[in-house]
Amino acid sequence: MCHSIQPALYPGGEHVPAMKRKRSSEMALTESRKRASQRTSQSEIMLCPLIRILQQYGLLASIASWLFPEDLLALALTSKAIHQAISPRPCSLENLLGKLSCPGKGIQIRQKHHKKSMFFYAYDCSEYVQCGSTSDIVESRPCVSCKVTTCNECRIHCVYQSNYEAPSDLDELPSFSGFVLLTPREVPILSPQHLAAFDSQSSGPPWQNPSKGLNGPYHDQGFIDVPFDDNTFGPPEFVEDILNLDLGQHSLGVSISSNVPAPSPVLKAFHQITEQRKRQFCDACLPPTLAKRREGSQYMLCHCSLRKHFLDRWLCLRCYEMEEIAISKAYPAHIERCGCAQNSSDRVVCLWCSGVVPESKDEADVPDLDSDASTVGSSP
Ligand SMILES: [Zn+2]
Ligand SMILES: [Zn+2]
Ligand SMILES: [Zn+2]
Ligand SMILES: [Zn+2]
Ligand SMILES: [Zn+2]
Repeated sequence: MCHSIQPALYPGGEHVPAMKRKRSSEMALTESRKRASQRTSQSEIMLCPLIRILQQYGLLASIASWLFPEDLLALALTSKAIHQAISPRPCSLENLLGKLSCPGKGIQIRQKHHKKSMFFYAYDCSEYVQCGSTSDIVESRPCVSCKVTTCNECRIHCVYQSNYEAPSDLDELPSFSGFVLLTPREVPILSPQHLAAFDSQSSGPPWQNPSKGLNGPYHDQGFIDVPFDDNTFGPPEFVEDILNLDLGQHSLGVSISSNVPAPSPVLKAFHQITEQRKRQFCDACLPPTLAKRREGSQYMLCHCSLRKHFLDRWLCLRCYEMEEIAISKAYPAHIERCGCAQNSSDRVVCLWCSGVVPESKDEADVPDLDSDASTVGSSP
C-alpha cells in the first residue's frame, strides 16, 4: 500500500530512483486508477470526521453536555448522516436530551411571573438566581416529562427563595424573600433562626447570603409569611408542614399552624393550586379513567401532597405550566358540582392522582394536626 503512494511523491521525475522511473510508464495507468479509487475511499473517511466523532456515544455525550436543546436540533438537521449519528435509535435522542446543558428557560419563566415588591427596590435587596448551565454547584437532571436537562433553579419549587437583604446591624439576621410556585407576589421567608419558637439545636446553621455560601438558595424551607403587598393577617406557616400535608385528608383552606379558617393569606396561593386539582362527579358521570377502584371495589383514595406532586418529580417549568393549563381545562363542567344537574351526591376526584378525595363540600374542613397557635411549625 505504501509503495503505491510513492510515485505520487515524486512527480517531476528528477529525483525519482532509477527503478521507479523505469516502472513508472508501465504502471502509470494502474497507478492513476488506484489513486482515483483511493481518493473516493479517502474522501469518504476524510469528508466527515464529525460524523465519525458523533457516532461514538462517549464523545457525542460529552459534546452534548456543552449544548442547549436548540443547538442539538440545529446540528441534527444539518444532514441526514449527522441526524443518523446523533439518533441511531428512537430512544437515543431522549437519552441525549438528558446529557445537554440546562437551557435556562425556567429562570426566564420565573422572571416573567415573579414580580418584586416595592420593598425590594426600597431596601438594599439583591436577587440570587443562577442557572446550572453557568454554575457547577447547581444540580441538573432530566425533566420527568420532556426529558430535557433541567437545573434545580429552572424546575418547579413550591417556595423559591430568590431575594436577600443583608442585616443593617451585625447582631441582626439577614432577610430572605421569594415566591410561591409561579405566583407573582413576593413573600417574606423566615429562616428557622427568625422564629424563637424553634430551638437553636434543631434549626441548623444560620442562613447566609446565598451568593456567598454553598448552602443557599433556601428553596422549600423555613416559614412563609403574608405577601409584602397584602395588608391582611395570617400566622407564618412552616413550609415543611405545607409540603407534607396529606391533601386527600386535609385542605389548605385552614391555617396549618393555628387552625384559623379562611384560607389564610399565607396559604392562598397553595390553596388555589390544590383546589384546582379537584373535580366533582356523581356516580353516573364518573369517567372510568378517574376514581380507579381497587380489587374490593373500593375507590383509590388521594394521598397527594405538594411535596410528592411537585418536588419529588423533577419537572421543568415549561412542563409545569403545560400541566397546570391542562388541569385548568379538564372537565370544566365539574368544577363546582357535577355538570349533569341531577343533584345527587358528588364525589370529589383529584386530577393529580385520579384518586377520590374523601371530603364533603359542606363539611367543616378542619385538619386534625396536633398544633396550636403557640407552637408554630411543630411537625406532625
Ligand atoms: Zn408562564
Ligand atoms: Zn437552569
Ligand atoms: Zn419538561
Ligand atoms: Zn353527574
Ligand atoms: Zn391526589
